[in-house]
Amino acid sequence: MKATEVIDDLRRRFPNEPEYLQAVEEVVTSIEDVYNEHPEFERYNLIERLCLPDRIISFRVSWVDDKGQVHNNMGYRIQHNNAIGPYKGGIRFHASVNQSILKFLAFEQTFKNSLTTLPMGGGKGGSDFSPKGKSDMEVMRFCQAFMTELYRHIGPDEDVPAGDIGVGGREIGYLYGQYKRIRNCYEGVLTGKGMSYGGSLIRPEATGYGAVYYLQEVLKHENDTIEGKRLAISGYGNVGWGIMKKAAELGAKVTYFAGPDGYIHDPDGVTGEKLDYILEMRAKDPMHCKPYADKYGVEFVAGEKCWGVKDVDVYMPAATQNDVRMESAEKIAASGVKYYIEVANMPTTNDALNFLRGQKHMVVAPSKAVNAGGVGVSGLEMSQNSERLSWTAEEVDAQLHKMMKNIHKVSAEAAEEYGLGYDLVAGANIAGFKKVAEAMYEQGVF
Ligand code: GLU
Repeated sequence: MKATEVIDDLRRRFPNEPEYLQAVEEVVTSIEDVYNEHPEFERYNLIERLCLPDRIISFRVSWVDDKGQVHNNMGYRIQHNNAIGPYKGGIRFHASVNQSILKFLAFEQTFKNSLTTLPMGGGKGGSDFSPKGKSDMEVMRFCQAFMTELYRHIGPDEDVPAGDIGVGGREIGYLYGQYKRIRNCYEGVLTGKGMSYGGSLIRPEATGYGAVYYLQEVLKHENDTIEGKRLAISGYGNVGWGIMKKAAELGAKVTYFAGPDGYIHDPDGVTGEKLDYILEMRAKDPMHCKPYADKYGVEFVAGEKCWGVKDVDVYMPAATQNDVRMESAEKIAASGVKYYIEVANMPTTNDALNFLRGQKHMVVAPSKAVNAGGVGVSGLEMSQNSERLSWTAEEVDAQLHKMMKNIHKVSAEAAEEYGLGYDLVAGANIAGFKKVAEAMYEQGVF
């Protein structure tokens, strides 16, 4: 099947999965040239095989709340592709989770993991359960119920889940405890673990740090530097916080950040003890950013996002998928800001992304490259677990930095090779695709 036929076919077969179709379309349209260059790929119907997940596991998760009431959630694991390594990718606990969202995330993860150069395939899982507003004991009972089914599908050489939205250190701890109890086996089956039981230093910061390292490479390419740069971001969860911290360390600053209730403008930047306050604020339910404005006497704009503000140098959407739609993209383009660096998985709708890529004054970078540092350090956690050793923070950070430089380099080179200029979006798709496609081709039809 030709690349475009694959998209039409998937549209017909999965009409109710818009996020999945969106992710597939974004990648498939940009790898068409590479695909057409390899007639053997078409003979092997490789694109279609790469778009369809190897396996979808779905199950009911029943758990008891603190009042003795029974709740039923849905649990999923999408094992998308293991051509280059065990399935690898996070678990998301959020009320919005459904099969389409997890399929898009597992698909994206496959290319992202390929870019890290580490041997990791792609997968994703989750549940429509939200830990927000639940007690620790409720979260624990839910995680135990979730793992009671999931354990039979995962393993250190089979599928290695980790965190994502709604799944942090606490959830990973409960999930790991239950896995160990059922399997009676102490092994590196999850990443993002606590430091006392096999976690890696720098893992919590890795996605945000990696995004800033990648930004540095983009700036270098444009004969620019990070010093003094003002960043506008959305989201101040784990990833946003990592960006704030690393930016401050390197002489840049986050001057705008947005939350669910509106956005903050702090011209002095989020630095020093304000970084600790962000941690405090994000643990609250509901997760509102207005208290930051009250505490530090800065501007808060209710109900708005910070896209379109002019007194910044870089935009970094770091909240969740489809945060930036056409309306925001138009404001972003009109602001004259040069750098649009995606961080959250698929934060831009396809029409908005194509519109931004078409702006001559802008450089656009894709999330599957920019946020790959998170899963990259998960890969390093797997290596440490296999070695039964723990590396120093400096060692992990140095490897992360090297990885991000390399991801930028191979993406830029891939785009150049296909005559696309400095197109980091297409470059990441092409570089990520090539490795997985070659591995699938060499391993035959399966
Ligand atoms: N959930 C993260 C991602 O989207 C990390 C996955 C992992 O560490 O396995 O890449």
